[in-house]
Amino acid sequence: IITVDKVCKTFPNGVKALCDFSTNIRRAEVVVVIGPSGSGKSTFLRCLNGLEEIDSGEIIFDGIPLDHDKKNRLKIRREMGMVFQSFNLFPHMTVLENIMLAQKLVRKSSTGVAKDVSMELLEKVGIQDKVSAYPGQLSGGQQQRVAIARALAMKPKVMLFDEATSALDPEMIGEVLDVMKTLAREGMTMICVTHELGFAQEVSDWVIFMDQGKIIEGGTADHFFSNPQEERTKLFLSQIL
Ligand code: ATP
Ligand code: MG
Repeated sequence: IITVDKVCKTFPNGVKALCDFSTNIRRAEVVVVIGPSGSGKSTFLRCLNGLEEIDSGEIIFDGIPLDHDKKNRLKIRREMGMVFQSFNLFPHMTVLENIMLAQKLVRKSSTGVAKDVSMELLEKVGIQDKVSAYPGQLSGGQQQRVAIARALAMKPKVMLFDEATSALDPEMIGEVLDVMKTLAREGMTMICVTHELGFAQEVSDWVIFMDQGKIIEGGTADHFFSNPQEERTKLFLSQIL
């Protein structure tokens, strides 16, 4: 569903965030991206959904090239749901309003339809009892589940997760990972930047280890646990395991 071919991205300050980055992501695949801080993981996700422009190389999403054409960029952006470390919910809107907003603005759904979709998704992420709450009244784990429901409400073809559990207290990480695991099992195409190797082990089809803007090594989670090849990979894993 996504082809990434020799993508390079250098920021104006000269930082080479991605360098000759190539990978293929198939429909319904769950790809986990790991790597040290500053290795370019977030930049990779931001390039995929067009939040950052690439300098060279090619990204093709579902047959559409992610080029300078604004229409193409918008089309692709709409097909990708993104969940960040910070939940970015609108504090002055209730949970329900947060999830309904983009459906009404972007998908032009009627209030009735948007509400039905939202309620269904809240049930899916296990917080239907919080529809009328404001984000400030929710725990971090609950807020993140609202953020996931909000992204899903756009019916994306791909979900991107950038360290979705990193800002959470340990006891809340599990509930968010459970939602992500359910999505994975239902066949959602997912690219997840995460250091939760248990998650990688359980649901990922492929793991990419990157450093300094390059893919150092790719393989199954089992490969990374039992038989990493590169010295840099071994060093990194020894630090996070
Ligand atoms: P972390 O694990 O800390 O989130 P990361 O792997 O997500 O790190 P990126 O955020 O993609 O790393 O950053 C890759 C490199 O690009 C870093 O050196 C970073 O300082 C640099 N960088 C990221 N965004 C910008 C920007 N907008 N302008 C300039 N440099 C940037
Ligand atoms: Mg990052």
